[in-house]
Amino acid sequence: MVNYKDLGLVNTREMFKRAVAGGYAIPAFNFNTMEQMQAIVMAAVETKSPVIMQVSKGARNYANASILRYMAEGAVAYAKELGCEHPEIVLHLDHGDSFELCKDCIDMGFSSVMIDGSHLPYEENVALAKKVVDYAHQFDVTVEAELGVLAGVEDEVSAAESHYTKPEEVIDFSTRTGCDSLAISIGTSHGAHKFTPEQCTLVNGVLVPPPLAFDILHEIEKKLPGFPIVLHGSSSVPMDEVNTINKFGGHLEAAIGIPEEQLREASKSAVCKINIDSDSRLAMTAAIRKHFDEYPSHFDPRQYLKPARENMKKMYIHKIVEVLGSNDKL
Ligand SMILES: [Zn+2]
Repeated sequence: MVNYKDLGLVNTREMFKRAVAGGYAIPAFNFNTMEQMQAIVMAAVETKSPVIMQVSKGARNYANASILRYMAEGAVAYAKELGCEHPEIVLHLDHGDSFELCKDCIDMGFSSVMIDGSHLPYEENVALAKKVVDYAHQFDVTVEAELGVLAGVEDEVSAAESHYTKPEEVIDFSTRTGCDSLAISIGTSHGAHKFTPEQCTLVNGVLVPPPLAFDILHEIEKKLPGFPIVLHGSSSVPMDEVNTINKFGGHLEAAIGIPEEQLREASKSAVCKINIDSDSRLAMTAAIRKHFDEYPSHFDPRQYLKPARENMKKMYIHKIVEVLGSNDKL
């Protein structure tokens, strides 16, 4: 059993308080590989941004739970080595689906966990979230819970249809569970194919998805003033990366994300954590495909993972500075 404080990590409490008050959002980037981890840390250090490094159940299966935990510890050391004296790095479990998984992560040094009971009937979601909160708070670990269902596919999480969060439930839910932040559903969606072309409007040759339900967000803010709100499924699916992938042998059809202007607007509200995963996958894949096209003889992974890491870092910095506004907030 190890506490996150011994690893140099922080929980989300102070970070979110400052973000809500300051009108910006903290980036929550998923990671599975060393190159992603390095790119996240380099971007956060260069922009002086707090950052949430998050791990899904699928990431734990892919990379091994212990390795990911040590990588997060390594991320803190790496940030200091890069010149950041007091990095603010959260190690967060994304979409925990059981009390046991959350407990396992808390026991091995995570500073924050998500318990996702959003697919359960309301009372069961409350009971499960409360059980995780009661355990987590003993160790000062913060807990994100979810109300409402996002559509899309993300690792083992998938739903065909979204159900917007009901504002009338949020006070009861947050009070009874004691959760520290709440993920809501207002039209974001998991994966790189968030919308079908039929759901979008064609504007100047570009498919524009339906706008986020800001009216629901504002209603929730009114019911829970200052309470930290989280947006999942908030990749923008940049067209230049999709085009690069398709130009160099890929085949991505109708990949559509959330326009960055809408995320920028959400960041100024009580939304204080924005989850971005697919954009990193796209940035990595685009760089690797391009590299292989230019250098067909290369077979040393360092040759193609280096530009992949660079491209992810560029994307992370763009999100921090141009979209979330969390730069210079350390
Ligand atoms: Zn999610």
